Amino acid sequence: MLKKFLPKGFVEDIYQIKTEHLNERGIKGMIIDLDNTLVAWDCLDATVEVAEWLKQMQQAGIRIVIVSNNNEERVNRFAKPLQIPFVSKANKPLGGAFKRAIKILGTKKRETIVVGDQLLTDIFGGNRQKIHTVLVNPVATSDAKITTFNRNLESFIKERLRKRGLVYWEES
Ligand SMILES: [Mg+2]
Repeated sequence: MLKKFLPKGFVEDIYQIKTEHLNERGIKGMIIDLDNTLVAWDCLDATVEVAEWLKQMQQAGIRIVIVSNNNEERVNRFAKPLQIPFVSKANKPLGGAFKRAIKILGTKKRETIVVGDQLLTDIFGGNRQKIHTVLVNPVATSDAKITTFNRNLESFIKERLRKRGLVYWEES
């Protein structure tokens, strides 16, 4: 049961995800969370670094779709200037938004990764769809909207991952 909440990979932040690693593994599409994955949950727009990273991905042939449980206004405001497609009010970990995202990307599941900061939504949701999942540390740790319980559970699981030496791209 716990295994469903474990990511296949773990990185400190998105910048550790490199285009050459993705290309080597035949990854062509990325389903990525917004709040606390790309930017802090209270940050309205992309930072220069995030915009640059996204552009690098796209130039390397990686298609990107933002999938967020947040509302359309928030996600549209962030994604539109970057011209990146998105699914808002995604209801992760439910499967509907992941399926829509795959359709938008036009990739196969095995050519796709899910990237996010939350085990119970991003990682659990991606695992349920049998898509490769990569956990990142949350950009902002003071997220009022996420319960202490969830964060404690995440800390516990990450600590175990570190001890087991499960890192980026290692298959479990
Ligand atoms: Mg998030």
